[in-house]
Amino acid sequence: MTNRQLRKLMRSASATHLTRLGNKLRRFFLCAVKPDYVEQMIQHRAGECVQCGKCCKLVFKCPFLGGTDENPRCMVYEGRPKPCVAFPIDERDLADVNFQCGYFFTDQKAPASDLVQIPLPAFSRSSQAAQKLATDI
Ligand code: SF4
Repeated sequence: MTNRQLRKLMRSASATHLTRLGNKLRRFFLCAVKPDYVEQMIQHRAGECVQCGKCCKLVFKCPFLGGTDENPRCMVYEGRPKPCVAFPIDERDLADVNFQCGYFFTDQKAPASDLVQIPLPAFSRSSQAAQKLATDI
């Protein structure tokens, strides 16, 4: 994942309602118009749904979401719409639920691996010596 992609992802990680609405519409569009793409993305998905119900409350609370806050239940689980079955289609969807989902994507680097970049200061002679000493030990 490039830094540009990561920045874009982090922006969506603090998703506004508008971003979440856009992503909800995107999921409906992809499931209706690009089912092959959705299937392809689902192949890269690992983990399992822990039925937390977070994706059922994006933008608005689904009217078919029953149960309690601690134990949410989908009342139409067997016949739920394709965008519900397909959630998350990609990491943008995970960002919508602040990455608190039982699913994750296997073929992409974890965002943190790109995020943690500590710029090293230019080495002075003494720090070069210290580094050599450290490698010699
Ligand atoms: S957010 Fe993820 S784990 Fe929670 S209900 Fe939706 S798909 Fe399942």
